Amino acid sequence: MIEDKNPAKTSLSEMGEFGLISHLTESFNPSQTSTVKAVGDDSAVLDFKEKQVLVTTDFLVEGVHFNLSYMPLKHLGYKAVIANLSDIYAMNGTATQITVSIAVSNRFSVEALEELYAGIQLACNIYKVDLVGGDTTSSVQGLTISVTAIGYADKDKITYRNKAKANDLLVVTGDLGGAYLGYQVLEREKQVFEVNPNAQPDLAPYSYLVERQLKPEARKDIVRLLEELEVKPTSMIDISDGLSSEILHICKQSKVGCNLYEEKLPLDPQVIQTCEEFELNSTTVALNGGEDYELLFTISQEDYPKIKANPNLTVIGHITEPNEGAHLVTRANQKVALKAQGWTHQ
Ligand code: ADP
Ligand code: MG
Repeated sequence: MIEDKNPAKTSLSEMGEFGLISHLTESFNPSQTSTVKAVGDDSAVLDFKEKQVLVTTDFLVEGVHFNLSYMPLKHLGYKAVIANLSDIYAMNGTATQITVSIAVSNRFSVEALEELYAGIQLACNIYKVDLVGGDTTSSVQGLTISVTAIGYADKDKITYRNKAKANDLLVVTGDLGGAYLGYQVLEREKQVFEVNPNAQPDLAPYSYLVERQLKPEARKDIVRLLEELEVKPTSMIDISDGLSSEILHICKQSKVGCNLYEEKLPLDPQVIQTCEEFELNSTTVALNGGEDYELLFTISQEDYPKIKANPNLTVIGHITEPNEGAHLVTRANQKVALKAQGWTHQ
């Protein structure tokens, strides 16, 4: 796929490490006032005045977290940034800078890395974050990319995982399960292609799902929305590892239980249809699918009137006393213990 899309190929060794870094980063223009010095010195310099600083980092390894046979490099660059910004927004913060470190084998060309950085730059422009540094090294095999995101928040606005209280409402943004099903669809098309290279995949019925997998967005808008609504969540987490396991993180760290209602789980019509087609249980997919870069938060009951009319937010349950445990209440009104299925990366 990389070869097909980039007939002109310049080998990495032709350019050298320093040439490559400046080639990839020269068109990035820092715009945040907190960025004092971006790429180009031994260290970036940032100034956050009286704010508290948020730092988060993630690794993506080829063959473990992504597969380049259906993930174009531009999308990979975009998604790698999004995954980190989502963790800043999950603290109710503003993301302002990223660093990007890559290890690449000589299988990759300069043009391939240009694609990767085009995706990184698109995310930087859309989410208004500055690229302020990174590291570049070679690998024996494959591509590894690590992004660190930096942001800030007022001390009293930061939302931790450990402050949920009994009777708080559990709220989730957007809808669930799309990214996992997008992965299933792409995986199926890949297998069809391997058997018959002339087969043309028809992804139109799955457009939303494929987009959720290949071009996810982070919920920067929710941080602004909560500010406008004057709601400070009592706890918040991003649900990239699956709703179930993230709810259990909140319960464990806040020392509370919860009741989650199956009938309340927000599902896109494409998710429902595709679950039928693949004979998957949509509740299992919504609970354990993972990679939906949505936010899960808890609010005190008195804030309910402020959020209830909002189409981006769905109340899916409530927090209980710790001795009640964490449960899913099914459509048949049965209580099932919530389990963290975790998310096995593709
Ligand atoms: P050092 O020898 O101090 O590690 P480098 O030569 O690796 O410095 O990096 C020079 C500058 O380029 C630094 O500002 C560094 O943060 C930045 N940089 C290096 N690699 C990358 C990359 N892959 N993406 C963005 N910036 C990078
Ligand atoms: Mg370096």
